[in-house]
Amino acid sequence: ELVNINELFNYVLNRFDMILKKDEHPAKMYTIKRYFTKRDLWVDLDTDRFTQVLDNLMNNAIKYSPDGGVITCRLYETRNKVILSISDQGLGIPRKDIPHIFDRFYRVDKARSRQQGGSGLGLAISKEVVEALHGQLWAESVEGKGSTFYIALPYEPLGEEDLWDEV
Ligand code: ATP
Ligand code: MG
Repeated sequence: ELVNINELFNYVLNRFDMILKKDEHPAKMYTIKRYFTKRDLWVDLDTDRFTQVLDNLMNNAIKYSPDGGVITCRLYETRNKVILSISDQGLGIPRKDIPHIFDRFYRVDKARSRQQGGSGLGLAISKEVVEALHGQLWAESVEGKGSTFYIALPYEPLGEEDLWDEV
């Protein structure tokens, strides 16, 4: 189905904001900042599956940021792609682990991760969903500083040729 990705991303982030508002004494304090293009971007995808991907990335950003912090979410378009990014100020990922975090059951620092809960499947599933849409999912990270996860989806902006019919 053709989905308004601005609305979908906002909807997911609103839910994460609500969790904070409802809890008087949240175990972890975080702030979500949104930098979205004003242009509405429509992408052909399955809302439920894509929501699951965004939930995964947001949950990771929170879970692996022991001191909370700012989670910066961006949505913009390039010439032929829609880019969504989620940046945290958390633990970061050691350079040697970055190539493996999308593997099933791979978790950085097993002891610490086990204590956090989780199975190590979130990113593997997310990557499958994004690649089924002919998109890409990747991470950039600096250990001790934080991580940014990017989703790129193929996008065909409505061009002049869609607005005018040659008669
Ligand atoms: P779950 O299946 O519940 O998602 P998980 O969070 O451990 O478990 P993934 O989401 O696949 O599994 O992430 C794999 C590993 O990558 C994590 O265990 C963690 O070590 C690392 N990781 C993922 N996201 C981040 C992040 N934002 N900051 C730091 N490390 C991360
Ligand atoms: Mg996870």
